Amino acid sequence: MALRQIREIGDDILLKPCRDVKEITPHVRELIDDMFETLYDADGVGLAAPQVGILKKIVIIDTGDDPHVLINPVIISQSGEQEGSEGCLSVPGKYGIVKRPMYVKVSYYDENMERREMEGTELMARAICHELDHLEGKLYVDMTKDGLHDVEEEEEDGGEKD
Ligand code: ZN
Repeated sequence: MALRQIREIGDDILLKPCRDVKEITPHVRELIDDMFETLYDADGVGLAAPQVGILKKIVIIDTGDDPHVLINPVIISQSGEQEGSEGCLSVPGKYGIVKRPMYVKVSYYDENMERREMEGTELMARAICHELDHLEGKLYVDMTKDGLHDVEEEEEDGGEKD
């Protein structure tokens, strides 16, 4: 395993759409392992492959319960609404207020290319939406209610970093 460099806003790769994963190669497994190492090192909640410079539809999410790997994920149902603070490892030191669904259901493939479905509410729903946006080259900074705010130093541990 190895840490990968997290691409930051201004890097064009974050604005490009990703390709489907066709099969789980050793290369893809290594990427997923590296993404988890990079996510935990950065103390984040989620990470999408383009954030480490790879244009493949892979996201990982760990909101503190279990680590999830979502390959070729698609949101198949959503409901409700939540408005809350959101940050991104690719936009360090900033946060913004973003509206997201309160509930989402996502269809995806796991690390063995088995088709699965997962439901999420609150933080998990927000994380799923945020990470899936990355796969389409979309960043939360373009969806904020009133722009970006600076994270105060003393509050740095309190923010969610997807
Ligand atoms: Zn992000």
